[in-house]
Amino acid sequence: MNKILEAKNIQAWYEVRGGLLSRVQGLVRAVDDVSLTIHEGEVVSLVGESGCGKSTLGLALLGLLPVREGELTLFGEKVNYRKNNAWAKHRQKAQMIFQDPYGSLNPRLTIMEALAEPLLVHGLAKPKELKDRVAQLLEMVELQPDVMNRFPHAFSGGQRQRISIARALGMESKLLVCDEIVSALDVSVQAQVLELLMKLKKELNLSLLFISHDLAVVNAISDRIEVMYLGKIVESGSPDDLLANPQHPYTNALIEAVPGLDRTKRPKVLGGEIPSPMSRPSGCNFITRCSRKTESCEVPPDWTFETNKNKSRAYACHHPLTEKVTHDH
Ligand code: ADP
Ligand code: MG
Repeated sequence: MNKILEAKNIQAWYEVRGGLLSRVQGLVRAVDDVSLTIHEGEVVSLVGESGCGKSTLGLALLGLLPVREGELTLFGEKVNYRKNNAWAKHRQKAQMIFQDPYGSLNPRLTIMEALAEPLLVHGLAKPKELKDRVAQLLEMVELQPDVMNRFPHAFSGGQRQRISIARALGMESKLLVCDEIVSALDVSVQAQVLELLMKLKKELNLSLLFISHDLAVVNAISDRIEVMYLGKIVESGSPDDLLANPQHPYTNALIEAVPGLDRTKRPKVLGGEIPSPMSRPSGCNFITRCSRKTESCEVPPDWTFETNKNKSRAYACHHPLTEKVTHDH
């Protein structure tokens, strides 16, 4: 399978400035040494609590925020991200869709105008073909073509997400980074939008990075789940395998927090707070909240890679769940 995206040891950080001279006072290491591969036609999900760096990673992978360190290959081509125009040729083929399409759909433009603009900018349609092409895009997302003369406010949240998807399809994007795109929708509408997205993915052979804080949602659609905590991926595997058999205590905590994934137990809430990415603990990132920690966790964990019946699993933990930990108190 072709690799659509390959990221190695990616770092992305924000500079925090303050004081009279607006000097850099600290770095928020929002994405810290992340490696990730998306193959053609694959749905890779990125899950983790709010603030763990999912959006930053998604934005950085598409050049919408600076990548500071690491290697990035898109569509088989290495991205020289330090160069000014490095992203120009990938812009069209890799698009991001956001949670709130109100933010990305200009309220003063009709749907026709919003969908036509990128087609013109990228030379994807001639002016006289525009109307037909926009109608076709709306049909692809199961909206009536005659809605093209309306403004964004006339649509429900689910419909607006369909319009955002239509816009990315118009760009003939092959890679979509979907950032919490169904998180603000009712459960039944969520299911409809996800079903549409999966249908389009299949028809158009799209590859997706699907960002969500909701394990139940990603379970339904992913080929692989990547679990993120405090700027790092801590575990990755196929949904069945990962959910049935988590190895990292953080993955386990996320699963236990979802009502319904394990109906025999009450949802458990993970105690404590995520430390600030400005002052991460030394050693394992999860050390401040982990019930399995021992002295060895004061050193950053190495990755363990396992392949079982064609399924691969990777995790970074000194004391994975299959290991018995004894604490001497
Ligand atoms: P997620 O999408 O998983 O909720 P984000 O990528 O939005 O997480 O944020 C990761 C970390 O970066 C958080 O600690 C957040 O507070 C911080 N952060 C996000 N945007 C900025 C910014 N513009 N400036 C400084 N820090 C930021
Ligand atoms: Mg986010």
